[in-house]
Amino acid sequence: MREIVVISGKGGTGKTSLTAAFAHLAQDKILCDLDVDAPDLHILLEPQTRRQGAFLSGNEAIIDPGLCQACGLCAEKCRFGAIQAVEGSFRVNASRCEGCKVCVALCPHQAIDFQDRLCGTWYQSETRFGPMVHAQLFPGQENSGRLVSLLKQQARELAQQKGIDLILSDGTPGIGCPVIASLSQATLALIVTEPTPSGLHDLKRIADLCEHFRIRTAVLINKWDLNLDHTEAIETLCAEKGYVPVGRLPHDIQVAQAMVQRKAVTELEENPFNLQVRQIWKTIESLLPNN
Ligand code: SF4
Ligand code: SF4
Repeated sequence: MREIVVISGKGGTGKTSLTAAFAHLAQDKILCDLDVDAPDLHILLEPQTRRQGAFLSGNEAIIDPGLCQACGLCAEKCRFGAIQAVEGSFRVNASRCEGCKVCVALCPHQAIDFQDRLCGTWYQSETRFGPMVHAQLFPGQENSGRLVSLLKQQARELAQQKGIDLILSDGTPGIGCPVIASLSQATLALIVTEPTPSGLHDLKRIADLCEHFRIRTAVLINKWDLNLDHTEAIETLCAEKGYVPVGRLPHDIQVAQAMVQRKAVTELEENPFNLQVRQIWKTIESLLPNN
C-alpha cells in the first residue's frame, strides 16, 4: 500500500487546494481528509455519504436527576468546575468535564453515569474523483489523533476491499499528535510551504518530524514569487537535508477562482499554471515505489 500525506506546518498554505488537484490527477486511489479540525476537502469534492458512524473517545459524567439527592459533593470535588447547581439540581457541563471519574467514585447515591463521549462523526463517501474517507469533530472536542488513526485504518481497509494500492491524504497541519497520527506508515510526506520566515521555520519543524519517523519527504513551494530569497533558502535546505523539491508554484488567482466554483484548479481550462500542477503531480508519482 502506498500512502501520500500532504502536510504543512500551519493552515493556509494551499495544502487542501493542491490535494484536490492531485485527487483529480491521480488514477485509482482512496482519498482521505485527515484534517478533522477543519476539514475542507469536502467543499471542493462534494462527497455523497455512503456510510457514517459515531466517533467515541473518552468518557463524560452525566448526573441522573432521578437518583441525585443534591448533596453537592460532586460539585465540591470536581477540580475542573464542571458541575454546577442549576435551579437546585446538579448538572455536568460537558464541555468542561475532563472525564476523570472522581465524581462517579464519590457520589454517595451512585447517581452519576460515566458514558462514552460522542466526539464526532466519520464518513465513507463517493466523490467525482473516487472514494473518500473523512470526518467532522464536534466543536470543542480535542483532536488527540485517535480520529485521524481511525480514518487511516478505514482508508486502508477500503483500499484493500477495492483492490486499490494508493491512498492520498490531506494531512493535519502543525506538529502535534494529529500530524504524527497522519504520518503513521506514510510512504511519502509532501510538505506544502510558502516562502516566508514562518513558512521556513514551520517547514524545518515538520520536516524534522518526518525525518524522525524516517518518512521520505518532498517539498512543494507554493506562491514562490512572494519572496525569491526565502524560496532559495527553502531549496537550499532541501538540498542540504535530502528533501525532494517537487516544484515551485507562483501565486495565482486561479486557485481562488477554482475554489469559488468548487473545482480543483486542474479542472479549469488548460493553462500554464495548471500545467505546472500536472507536472508536479508527475514528479510526485515518480517518487512512489511500484507496488
Ligand atoms: S454527589 Fe451525587 S447525589 Fe450529590 S449532588 Fe452529586 S450527583 Fe447528586
Ligand atoms: S468526571 Fe471529573 S471532570 Fe467530569 S464532572 Fe466528574 S469530577 Fe468533574
